[in-house]
Amino acid sequence: MSKTRIVILGAGYGGMITSKRLGKLLKAGEADVTLINKHDYHYLTTELHKTAAGTEPDSKIALPITQFIDQEKVTFKKGTVSSIDYSGNKVLLEGGEKVNYDYLVVSLGFHVSTFGIPGIKEHAFEVRSFRSSKTIYHHIQRQFALYKEDEDPSRLTFVVAGAGFTGVEVVGELVVKLPELAEEYNIPFDKVRIVNVEAAPTILPGSADAAVDYASRILDKRGVEVKTSTKVLECKEDNIITDNGDLPSRTLIWTCGVQGHHLFEGTGIETVQGRAVVDEYLRIPTLKNVFCIGDNSYFKTGEKTPLPPTAQVALQQAPVCGDNIVGTIRGTELRKFEYHHKGSVASLSEHYGVGEVGGALLKGKIAAAMKKVIGYRYLFFLGGPSLMLKHFFGGGTSLA
Ligand code: FAD
Repeated sequence: MSKTRIVILGAGYGGMITSKRLGKLLKAGEADVTLINKHDYHYLTTELHKTAAGTEPDSKIALPITQFIDQEKVTFKKGTVSSIDYSGNKVLLEGGEKVNYDYLVVSLGFHVSTFGIPGIKEHAFEVRSFRSSKTIYHHIQRQFALYKEDEDPSRLTFVVAGAGFTGVEVVGELVVKLPELAEEYNIPFDKVRIVNVEAAPTILPGSADAAVDYASRILDKRGVEVKTSTKVLECKEDNIITDNGDLPSRTLIWTCGVQGHHLFEGTGIETVQGRAVVDEYLRIPTLKNVFCIGDNSYFKTGEKTPLPPTAQVALQQAPVCGDNIVGTIRGTELRKFEYHHKGSVASLSEHYGVGEVGGALLKGKIAAAMKKVIGYRYLFFLGGPSLMLKHFFGGGTSLA
């Protein structure tokens, strides 16, 4: 009899931790596990705002996948998934290769929602992947270089749309990096504008008033122009049109919302905002051999609100997903997924942060330190104490 084939799509938080769990649980020869990802590195999505602003070296954000999986039990395959044939149990990769599976885990992360706003797709920048975030940093550097030639003020107006957690984190890094770039290019910093546009009446919509007040004060102190109750209507190459006036700028960083992956479109799988609805065992209810976790999944129990697309959710789902695949293969009882919210913290640059943990408001240096602790905890989980210590002491992990 041929061996059971488990295929995991996406080596983000969900995919990496599911691979690790399966590597731990499966006995030698019990199943073949293949992890498929677009790139041969795993990037820390929760740190991409630092890549976008150039405040953290690449070696601390993009980590070589094969260093962190048990290669005796999990095979890594570099490839981009172009479609999934759910009835034929096959994944199709770009280039035409087909990968057959008995069990599938879909953990391909998010796509950015543009809400159909004209010009966003063409001209705005997305903090979506390591590559898209690097593109932002290169673009910012280029604007400083070109300003030396044409002194066009739109080059030095940097606009972040969205003041949710991701938006304020991007702004928090820009306030650190842009003064450094201004000095490097010998441009007075008073020529540089950092604008944060938010459609809701406050930044960090949905957060406690004290958190909103604190974050607003910090951004104001760091010279950020915050424009709340302001909607972006259109983005052009050199101008951003809002319902509160124009912002001549060549940099719109769009952080206004995410949706699931287009790979569910037209498959008949029930989705909400592009995210596949999953059952309590994290399976697609109509396909009991397909599991879906992280930003791709829409998990809701009873009347409760659905879980948000966060790393925290993906990291809690991954071990349950691994256990349930093994449970299905062995015919043992499956685990119901239960989410435990541990809190959320946004960094507002290296030294400041804001959020809540265990119901308590955290702000300032304590919140910034907490954000780092959360990051180190993940690195410990992924690569043990050596990875965590390497990052703590500034080394990072080389992709070479
Ligand atoms: P991801 O981690 O996005 O991984 C998806 C993987 O799939 C990637 O490796 C990608 O390259 C790969 N992939 C995609 N398409 C294909 C394809 N077609 N073929 C092959 N491979 C593919 N959440 C928190 O809980 N706390 C935070 O503080 C926090 N901060 C954030 C800050 C920023 C700047 C951003 C952008 C997000 C933040 N989030 C945070 C959200 C969090 O990062 C996501 O919810 C989390 O990454 C989801 O994990 P995932 O495994 O579903 O997908």
